[in-house]
Amino acid sequence: MKEATCPNCGKPTEGRPANPYAPFCSRRCRMVDLGRWFGESYRVPGRPEESEDEIPSDRGRDEDDDR
Ligand SMILES: [Zn+2]
Repeated sequence: MKEATCPNCGKPTEGRPANPYAPFCSRRCRMVDLGRWFGESYRVPGRPEESEDEIPSDRGRDEDDDR
C-alpha cells in the first residue's frame, strides 16, 4: 500500500484519482504551497521574466565566513 503525506501539513493523503489535489491533502494546502513557491521565486518586483526555468538559489553562500 502506498501511503503519501501532504507536503504542506504532513497529513496522510490519498493519491489520484481519488484526490485531485495529490500530493496535497486538499486544495488549500496545494494553494499554500504554490503561493510559498511563487513568493520565493518572484520576490523581485519589476523584473522581467526572461526565463521561467531559472530559479535563483541561495546555495553556495555558506562559505563567506572567511575573514
Ligand atoms: Zn495538507
